Amino acid sequence: MRERAAEGLFPNRAPYGYKNVRNERGKSVIEVNKETAPFIIRAFEIYSSGNISIKDTAKQLLDEGYSYRPYSPRITPGALEDMLKNPFYTGVFRYNGEIMQGVHVPLISNTLFQKVQKAFKKDGKPLYTKHKFLLGNFFTCGDCGCSVVGEIKKEKYIYYHCTWAYGKDKCSNRKYHNESELLKKLGDAVKAVEINEDLKRSICDAIIDLNKQEQNFQTENLQRLNMQAEKIRKEIHAIYQDKLEGLISKEQWQEENDIRQQRLIAVKTRIEAFDNTNNMFMEDVNLTLELLNDLHSKYLQASDETKVEILKTLLSNCTLNGENVSWTYKKPFSYIAETADFEKIYPRCDSNA
Ligand SMILES: [Zn+2]
Repeated sequence: MRERAAEGLFPNRAPYGYKNVRNERGKSVIEVNKETAPFIIRAFEIYSSGNISIKDTAKQLLDEGYSYRPYSPRITPGALEDMLKNPFYTGVFRYNGEIMQGVHVPLISNTLFQKVQKAFKKDGKPLYTKHKFLLGNFFTCGDCGCSVVGEIKKEKYIYYHCTWAYGKDKCSNRKYHNESELLKKLGDAVKAVEINEDLKRSICDAIIDLNKQEQNFQTENLQRLNMQAEKIRKEIHAIYQDKLEGLISKEQWQEENDIRQQRLIAVKTRIEAFDNTNNMFMEDVNLTLELLNDLHSKYLQASDETKVEILKTLLSNCTLNGENVSWTYKKPFSYIAETADFEKIYPRCDSNA
């Protein structure tokens, strides 16, 4: 054990983010686990902002789609804290109370690790919980890819900037962005998917039209499934008759009957699934169009909290690059945005053109 440690080989089980594998010489070494390593990196990034609690970090990881383990997708605060305090991720390891240089690949930089240790000292202190950074971790830096975090200036102005977690020299984005300016810029993203009442109706009709083809296909499938179900029912009836007439034994009937009952359940499940998807699809369409109706006016009148809620519903992958704010739309809003200029396709009734 001691020998292994002296060689920079961690003598125990690999921590989350790594895996134990045997090398060519049959020696157990530690390799980056490509599936779990992104979780570690993101956890350090989020918590390094210094204005988020351990519990909220755990929640945010899950919200962003980082699943801890299949049976417990959300990491417990205790496990997360241990993780964030483990220097192993910077390429070293603890052995018998000593810190030793490892040969494993580091997942995070020393700078980021130190930042996280500082954040632990801040966690829970009123200074950092008093102000809510609505756009905290909403953007990533368009240059170095780190999170963008909020900071309070002169005790009242909220500014956002890159965490520079890989070092300030690695990033050209030095600008501090004012929160209200950012919300104003993001208003463009809302405007691009806004629709009015007329447009809402036209889109709804268009979607119903497009959906009709799909529906015809589905109807055919559904008919086929119903026919299959009917055929199985007839077979079940027929073999029951055979049993009554003594043409087959009770055991034979049991076996044949079981097979068909199972098939029937499978077919019925598929029939139900068809009904559900169709209803859900149209419900989604209606809800989405309702949301987008006059959304920009709603956005302009909304509180900053609601503005951010709207933005989080519509957008993902928001980045800040110099003066520029960019974003991608979540589905189904991306479809609306892709049809860049609706007015050309569906002229508004009140249009002067
Ligand atoms: Zn950056």
